[in-house]
Amino acid sequence: MEIDSSILAIASRLLHRYALCDSCLGRQFATLGYRLTNRERGRSIKIVLLMDAEASEDIETIRVLSSMGMLPEASASLQRRKIAPPEPQVCFICGGVSDKLKDIASRIVDAVSSYEFYSFVLGINIPGWISEREDMVRSISNSMYCESLKSEFSRELGKLLSSILGVRFDPVRPDINIVVDPFSLSIDASPTPLYLAGRFRKLKSELPIRSRMCRACMGRGCDLCRSLGAEEVSVEHILRRISIELYECESVKLHIPLNDGRDRVVLGSGRIFVLEIRKPRRRSINLDIFKERLDSISEGLIDVDNLSYVDRGFIRRMKTILEPESYILLLKPLESTSVSPKVVEYFRNLEGLKIKQKYPGFKVRVKSISKVSVEVRQDGLVELKFTSSEPLHTKSFIEGGRDTKPTVTDITGVSWMLVETIVYVGDVSYA
Ligand SMILES: [Zn+2]
Ligand SMILES: [Zn+2]
Repeated sequence: MEIDSSILAIASRLLHRYALCDSCLGRQFATLGYRLTNRERGRSIKIVLLMDAEASEDIETIRVLSSMGMLPEASASLQRRKIAPPEPQVCFICGGVSDKLKDIASRIVDAVSSYEFYSFVLGINIPGWISEREDMVRSISNSMYCESLKSEFSRELGKLLSSILGVRFDPVRPDINIVVDPFSLSIDASPTPLYLAGRFRKLKSELPIRSRMCRACMGRGCDLCRSLGAEEVSVEHILRRISIELYECESVKLHIPLNDGRDRVVLGSGRIFVLEIRKPRRRSINLDIFKERLDSISEGLIDVDNLSYVDRGFIRRMKTILEPESYILLLKPLESTSVSPKVVEYFRNLEGLKIKQKYPGFKVRVKSISKVSVEVRQDGLVELKFTSSEPLHTKSFIEGGRDTKPTVTDITGVSWMLVETIVYVGDVSYA
């Protein structure tokens, strides 16, 4: 009985000072009464206050309940006594927004209707002046059972969205972030990125991995870029084009552990990559369709395999994977036109050699060379095949750079120019 009376005393004190709707009054006692809504709490308290006031013929309190409490039964009680009920006030805290959550939810549903998503988080922005009013009321109620307006709105709107859309609330890995200000009705929807991993093979040389977006049209395609949207065709450009078409995304970022030069051909199991697909409107794209679309527009420049959706952490893990690679290099002697048999013999000394090189990254790494074979072609170029225990910067290996020790020049005593590189990623036999 003591707690009851203190709740009623607090509620009565509040309503004599501030107009409060059922929800905003009930929220002062939100942790009491398991499974009740704040609206039910507030209304129940107002009804008990009314019954109490009727029992003691406390007309003043009935009047307060009718105006500040907006309680229709209190107005009816006054009318029965032939007293004109006062104008119901507007809630001091929420201005009546607590009663409009269903409308707000359907506005959110409209705002996100163009996005495909199965899970969401909902952020609520409450204007500062509302929070200030909330604090003023709380300083009178001094209630230890209080909940904030923000937390009630986020829970109730979240429940409404879940049930209207059949999507689940997921604070850890949501498909979409929704932020709403229930007072200004501004709604911001931002889908979280999708991460698509796979391997690409770069089938042609003279194809860069990346190319800048066309500055004239910012990727939309114009006369200057021949509707490409980029300065030139690249691996990134092809992957971006497919992603924008299928996922209706805003932008795409290509993550790769190693940046192969434009002259390289990359075969074998292909270079591992992750596409970060930003702000996608579509999420559940069948990856066979991705591959099909890519094959149909890539004109034999690249192909992809092993496609799968991954989490963001995979980008970091991917960069620590250093796979063995095999190479076919074409070398041109810089000083003479013919390659002597003695020089060919020197090449065989590469077998089993340990090469130090600052690549990938800036630390010296040691790579073991194996499966060496060498052939002087009709045109006088040397075709050198070998496997390295991890990725090798081939240009530096041949011509020097990246503190490579020893280089092919050191081993053969001849200066070379690297004409062509074919990379086979993975321990793939090139034979
Ligand atoms: Zn209110
Ligand atoms: Zn353009």
